[in-house]
Amino acid sequence: MGSILITGGAGYIGSHTVQVLRAQGAQVVVLDSLVTGHRKAVPEEVPFYQGDISDSGLVRTVVEDHGVEAVIHFAARSLVGESMLKPDLYFYENTAKTNLLVANLLQLGVNKIVFSSTAAVYGLPEVVPISEEVPTNPINPYGLSKRMIEESFHWLEKAYGLKWVALRYFNAAGASLDGSIGEEHLPETHLIPLVLKAALGQREGIQVFGTDYNTMDGTCIRDYIHVLDLAEAHVLALKALERQSASGIFNVGTGQGYSVREVIKSAKKVTGIDIPVVEGPRRSGDPDVLIAKVDKIEKALGLKAKYSDLETIIASAWQWHKNNPHGY
Ligand code: UDP
Repeated sequence: MGSILITGGAGYIGSHTVQVLRAQGAQVVVLDSLVTGHRKAVPEEVPFYQGDISDSGLVRTVVEDHGVEAVIHFAARSLVGESMLKPDLYFYENTAKTNLLVANLLQLGVNKIVFSSTAAVYGLPEVVPISEEVPTNPINPYGLSKRMIEESFHWLEKAYGLKWVALRYFNAAGASLDGSIGEEHLPETHLIPLVLKAALGQREGIQVFGTDYNTMDGTCIRDYIHVLDLAEAHVLALKALERQSASGIFNVGTGQGYSVREVIKSAKKVTGIDIPVVEGPRRSGDPDVLIAKVDKIEKALGLKAKYSDLETIIASAWQWHKNNPHGY
């Protein structure tokens, strides 16, 4: 049996996917530049290559030495704000390098890929829950860098037989239940880790970005999915490609949304700490509500979210942050 190559396997979602795949008996090999990933997020026993997805020689070595049969491609830049300031970086790092990686994989005879896409391809949705069928309209270079890759896959399939699944992630959150790995971004911008850092006393409190949204409590609503459920979506996508299912695009969320205030309330309950809250202005580019329509992934891939209730998400993240207050 061959191996699954995980690019970006030292990152947040990649490292949890490595853990889930290994628990199911799969052979994996990780390629990660460690620009944003953490070496310690990948167990010592897992074959690990530090390098860039655009290093064609290295990709060849990894594929040949490990008999790579399929790829889960996480490696990317993923900061919306940074993408606004440096769009060229995103088009190069995400779009151009993925194009080169896939060309190299096809030449090496690897034609199955599961790809990290994002709900950012939708921009400001007109209807929620958001279906995969609606026209995409990204409002930042990050979303566009991912949409261009999705579009390229259609043509690579027609020309060369690429088999692909693009997973459009909603809000990944939570941590491994055994406490071994979790979320660490530098800088951290996401709501749940920031709330928990405030609970740890590492920040003065949490700022709510906008209280005048068109939602029941005035704060933004997002669809939070536990990183282990998200990891499982990749495993199911891979299995679908192995049984020759059709290529395609799937939302990965729960179909249920929580407001910023609900997240903070749950964090106070889970931690038992009265986290200070400051109400601030809106952050630019935040839609009121982002919730996935998830029928497609449930039906076609059989995904059933198991850990994505808000309390399990926050309790697992809290365990990680408490035990690793300074990250890896
Ligand atoms: N948010 C907030 N305060 C923070 C960070 C985030 O109120 O310090 C809000 C943000 O405006 C959004 C939600 O929390 O409505 C989730 O933001 P996050 O950055 O975690 O994920 P995104 O939805 O941007 O991918």
